[in-house]
Amino acid sequence: MGLLFGLVLSLLVHLYSSLKEKERELRKLASTDPLTGLPNKRILMEFLEFELNRAKRKGTPLSVAVFDIDDFKQINDTYGHLAGDQILRALAGVVRKNLRSTDIVGRFGGEEFVVIMPETDLKTAVRVMERLRRTVEETYFEPVGNLSISVGITELKSDDDTESLLRRADEKLYQAKREGKNRVLAG
Ligand code: GH3
Ligand code: MG
Ligand code: MG
Repeated sequence: MGLLFGLVLSLLVHLYSSLKEKERELRKLASTDPLTGLPNKRILMEFLEFELNRAKRKGTPLSVAVFDIDDFKQINDTYGHLAGDQILRALAGVVRKNLRSTDIVGRFGGEEFVVIMPETDLKTAVRVMERLRRTVEETYFEPVGNLSISVGITELKSDDDTESLLRRADEKLYQAKREGKNRVLAG
């Protein structure tokens, strides 16, 4: 009797832990962009909400950057969609290596990425993203060669929500595009 009970118990424990593991796998899958392995838009929005609330509560700065590959359509048209995909993956690697461990970067969609920088003021964020912009500019991306990114940055204000914060960063990105691309604009 005791043996049977022990057997059933260990079976249940095993079942439970493999279910938990499946759940973890599914959760990770649902929050990861399959091409780059970066956090996807869904989970990024959760991170942003969390960091925004924390920054407001603690009174610490929070900066957000949006960046986008310059003339990516032309790269796709010239070298093909597969080359475009290869570049997106390589760029994700460059970005991950060159940001600080506290920065959260994800693929927001298409060839647009978002960086959440907790406890970072605008001036510091500009320095971080300017360094990334320069690194990308100096990197050779197989099979295309050099490319560039444009970056828009903004810092949390007291009356911001996630939408207004992202909108301001986006406006700066589009200003950077209009002013000639391959640059960082903040405000
Ligand atoms: P700009 O310098 O103003 O950013 O111009 P752009 O050509 O980069 O921007 P546009 O929005 O016109 O084009 C973006 C292109 O990105 C179009 C689309 O085919 C491509 N793209 C989006 N997602 C993917 C992807 O997952 N893989 C590939 N290969 N291309 C993608
Ligand atoms: Mg682009
Ligand atoms: Mg774009």
